[in-house]
Amino acid sequence: MNLILLGPPGAGKGTQAKRLEDRHGLKQISTGDMLRAEVRSGSEVGLQAKAIMERGELVPDAIIIAMLAGRVAQPDVAQGFILDGFPRTVPQAEALDLMLKEKAMPLHHVIELQVDDVALVDRISGRFTCAKCGEGYHDQFKPLAKHGTCDVCGSGEFTRRADDKAELVAARLEAYHRQTAPLLPYYAAQGVLRVVDGMAEMNEVARQIEAILGDKG
Ligand code: AMP
Repeated sequence: MNLILLGPPGAGKGTQAKRLEDRHGLKQISTGDMLRAEVRSGSEVGLQAKAIMERGELVPDAIIIAMLAGRVAQPDVAQGFILDGFPRTVPQAEALDLMLKEKAMPLHHVIELQVDDVALVDRISGRFTCAKCGEGYHDQFKPLAKHGTCDVCGSGEFTRRADDKAELVAARLEAYHRQTAPLLPYYAAQGVLRVVDGMAEMNEVARQIEAILGDKG
């Protein structure tokens, strides 16, 4: 099964993608994670993307589309994928349509996680991640059980994304509304758009997504 999770930053796309990956054996493809890895490695793409990401703006389509094309060509994706953070513009969606068509891969569902903008500022600005195992936490909504120690692997090292600062959230939301929201009518016209209540508690969001997947298998 091939899915897209669509929604503003902080809507819970990454969290739900990870659950789907575990439950259904699908591959999560996060262009944000891929870009952060490029930045860490100091590659050409990373150098180009870093400043743009730090302003909360979108990286140019040509760079993202080339990166995604490389990932979709890898064999592990054939078992099914969840796109998390891609596409973010109509040209990206059009490029994806072409890529999938060429590979005769269907797109089963585009699932929109609907969340109020006001809730997103709190959700994003409290996020942090275990540097060792990648488990995600939140100062307010998902704190560590024991201060300074990861619940999952016991590590004491954590990271916060450079663009998760409260002052950048407005720019990221603006980019979402102006450049990504036009994808909602785009996929509605293809008949693949489904909506879940991203304001609901995490397990309830997962349940709503499972119900959608169960509809068509
Ligand atoms: P994310 O982790 O999905 O929130 O992405 C973090 C940042 O990476 C975004 O704010 C953008 O600067 C960049 N980015 C990730 N995916 C894309 C994309 N599909 N198109 C353009 N920029 C992207």
